Amino acid sequence: MRDNTCIFCKIANGEIPSATVYEDETFRAILDLNPASKGHTIILPKDHYKDVCDLGETAAQKILPTAARIGKAMKKSLGCTGFNLVQNNGVSAGQTVFHFHMHVIPRYEGGPAMVSWEQQASNPEELQKTAEQIRQEL
Ligand code: AMP
Ligand code: ZN
Repeated sequence: MRDNTCIFCKIANGEIPSATVYEDETFRAILDLNPASKGHTIILPKDHYKDVCDLGETAAQKILPTAARIGKAMKKSLGCTGFNLVQNNGVSAGQTVFHFHMHVIPRYEGGPAMVSWEQQASNPEELQKTAEQIRQEL
Protein backbone atom coordinates (compact mmCIF):
# COMPACT_ATOMS: atom_id res chain seq x y z
CA MET A 1 0.00 0.00 0.00
CA ARG A 2 1.19 3.49 -0.82
CA ASP A 3 0.81 6.73 1.12
CA ASN A 4 0.03 9.68 -1.15
CA THR A 5 1.60 12.13 1.29
CA CYS A 6 4.93 10.28 1.47
CA ILE A 7 7.88 11.51 -0.61
CA PHE A 8 9.65 8.12 -0.53
CA CYS A 9 6.48 6.43 -1.90
CA LYS A 10 6.61 8.88 -4.80
CA ILE A 11 10.34 8.36 -5.39
CA ALA A 12 10.14 4.56 -5.05
CA ASN A 13 7.33 4.41 -7.59
CA GLY A 14 9.04 6.71 -10.08
CA GLU A 15 6.76 9.76 -9.68
CA ILE A 16 9.71 11.86 -8.54
CA PRO A 17 12.99 11.37 -10.42
CA SER A 18 16.00 9.97 -8.57
CA ALA A 19 19.49 8.63 -9.24
CA THR A 20 18.36 5.01 -9.32
CA VAL A 21 20.95 2.34 -8.60
CA TYR A 22 18.64 -0.69 -8.66
CA GLU A 23 14.96 -1.46 -9.18
CA ASP A 24 12.79 -4.57 -8.99
CA GLU A 25 9.11 -5.23 -8.18
CA THR A 26 9.70 -4.70 -4.44
CA PHE A 27 12.35 -1.96 -4.16
CA ARG A 28 13.96 1.05 -5.73
CA ALA A 29 17.47 1.85 -4.48
CA ILE A 30 18.59 5.45 -5.00
CA LEU A 31 21.56 7.63 -4.18
CA ASP A 32 21.09 9.61 -0.96
CA LEU A 33 20.81 13.37 -1.59
CA ASN A 34 23.18 14.12 1.30
CA PRO A 35 25.63 11.22 1.16
CA ALA A 36 27.88 10.13 4.02
CA SER A 37 30.32 8.93 1.33
CA LYS A 38 30.45 8.59 -2.46
CA GLY A 39 27.79 6.07 -3.53
CA HIS A 40 25.68 6.23 -0.32
CA THR A 41 22.49 4.45 -1.33
CA ILE A 42 19.11 4.06 0.32
CA ILE A 43 16.87 1.10 -0.51
CA LEU A 44 13.17 2.00 -0.52
CA PRO A 45 10.33 -0.53 -0.64
CA LYS A 46 7.71 0.45 -3.21
CA ASP A 47 5.01 -0.09 -0.57
CA HIS A 48 4.74 2.19 2.45
CA TYR A 49 5.98 0.80 5.77
CA LYS A 50 6.86 3.32 8.44
CA ASP A 51 9.70 1.36 10.00
CA VAL A 52 11.10 -2.14 10.43
CA CYS A 53 8.31 -3.13 12.87
CA ASP A 54 5.80 -2.45 10.12
CA LEU A 55 7.70 -4.09 7.26
CA GLY A 56 5.88 -6.57 4.99
CA GLU A 57 7.09 -10.15 4.72
CA THR A 58 8.39 -10.05 1.15
CA ALA A 59 10.34 -6.85 1.69
CA ALA A 60 11.70 -8.23 4.97
CA GLN A 61 12.92 -11.40 3.27
CA LYS A 62 14.51 -9.58 0.37
CA ILE A 63 16.10 -6.55 2.02
CA LEU A 64 19.35 -8.13 3.23
CA PRO A 65 20.19 -10.02 0.02
CA THR A 66 19.42 -6.82 -1.91
CA ALA A 67 21.66 -4.73 0.34
CA ALA A 68 24.46 -7.30 0.05
CA ARG A 69 24.16 -7.30 -3.72
CA ILE A 70 24.40 -3.51 -3.86
CA GLY A 71 27.32 -3.49 -1.43
CA LYS A 72 29.21 -6.02 -3.55
CA ALA A 73 28.55 -3.93 -6.67
CA MET A 74 29.86 -0.83 -4.85
CA LYS A 75 33.12 -2.62 -4.05
CA LYS A 76 33.61 -3.58 -7.69
CA SER A 77 32.47 -0.29 -9.22
CA LEU A 78 33.60 2.37 -6.73
CA GLY A 79 36.59 0.72 -5.10
CA CYS A 80 35.26 0.90 -1.57
CA THR A 81 36.64 -1.83 0.67
CA GLY A 82 33.64 -2.17 2.98
CA PHE A 83 30.16 -0.85 3.59
CA ASN A 84 27.78 -0.21 6.48
CA LEU A 85 24.13 -1.21 6.51
CA VAL A 86 22.21 1.28 8.66
CA GLN A 87 18.52 1.40 9.33
CA ASN A 88 16.95 3.93 11.71
CA ASN A 89 13.62 3.40 13.50
CA GLY A 90 12.00 6.30 15.34
CA VAL A 91 12.93 9.93 15.97
CA SER A 92 15.21 9.06 18.89
CA ALA A 93 17.15 6.72 16.58
CA GLY A 94 17.64 9.42 13.95
CA GLN A 95 14.88 8.43 11.54
CA THR A 96 13.87 11.53 9.56
CA VAL A 97 11.76 10.01 6.77
CA PHE A 98 9.03 7.71 8.03
CA HIS A 99 9.02 5.28 5.14
CA PHE A 100 11.26 2.29 5.93
CA HIS A 101 14.62 2.49 4.19
CA MET A 102 18.01 0.86 4.53
CA HIS A 103 21.21 2.83 4.05
CA VAL A 104 24.12 1.17 2.23
CA ILE A 105 27.15 3.34 2.97
CA PRO A 106 30.37 2.56 1.12
CA ARG A 107 33.57 2.87 3.18
CA TYR A 108 36.97 3.63 1.70
CA GLU A 109 40.53 3.05 2.93
CA GLY A 110 41.60 5.95 5.14
CA GLY A 111 38.06 7.32 5.51
CA PRO A 112 35.78 7.12 8.54
CA ALA A 113 35.14 3.48 9.40
CA MET A 114 31.57 3.47 10.53
CA VAL A 115 28.59 5.21 11.99
CA SER A 116 29.89 5.96 15.46
CA TRP A 117 28.39 5.83 18.91
CA GLU A 118 29.76 6.54 22.35
CA GLN A 119 30.64 3.35 24.21
CA GLN A 120 29.69 3.16 27.86
CA ALA A 121 30.90 0.95 30.67
CA SER A 122 28.61 -1.87 31.82
CA ASN A 123 28.48 -4.38 34.65
CA PRO A 124 27.33 -8.02 34.51
CA GLU A 125 24.38 -7.56 36.89
CA GLU A 126 23.00 -4.66 34.92
CA LEU A 127 23.42 -6.56 31.62
CA GLN A 128 21.53 -9.55 33.05
CA LYS A 129 18.73 -7.29 34.34
CA THR A 130 18.37 -5.49 31.02
CA ALA A 131 18.39 -8.77 29.08
CA GLU A 132 15.60 -10.03 31.35
CA GLN A 133 13.53 -6.88 30.74
CA ILE A 134 13.71 -7.42 26.96
CA ARG A 135 13.10 -11.19 27.20
CA GLN A 136 9.88 -10.54 29.14
CA GLU A 137 8.34 -8.83 26.10
CA LEU A 138 9.45 -11.28 23.39
P1 AMP B 1 16.97 8.56 7.98
O1 AMP B 1 17.66 9.61 8.83
O2 AMP B 1 17.44 7.18 8.23
O3 AMP B 1 15.46 8.72 8.03
O4 AMP B 1 17.46 8.87 6.51
C1 AMP B 1 16.80 9.67 5.59
C2 AMP B 1 17.78 9.86 4.46
O5 AMP B 1 17.08 10.21 3.31
C3 AMP B 1 18.82 10.94 4.72
O6 AMP B 1 20.12 10.38 4.58
C4 AMP B 1 18.52 11.98 3.64
O7 AMP B 1 19.69 12.57 3.13
C5 AMP B 1 17.83 11.14 2.60
N1 AMP B 1 16.87 11.86 1.75
C6 AMP B 1 15.85 12.65 2.18
N2 AMP B 1 15.13 13.10 1.11
C7 AMP B 1 15.70 12.55 0.01
C8 AMP B 1 15.44 12.60 -1.38
N3 AMP B 1 14.43 13.34 -1.86
N4 AMP B 1 16.23 11.91 -2.22
C9 AMP B 1 17.27 11.17 -1.74
N5 AMP B 1 17.58 11.07 -0.44
C10 AMP B 1 16.82 11.75 0.43
ZN1 ZN C 1 5.95 5.93 1.84
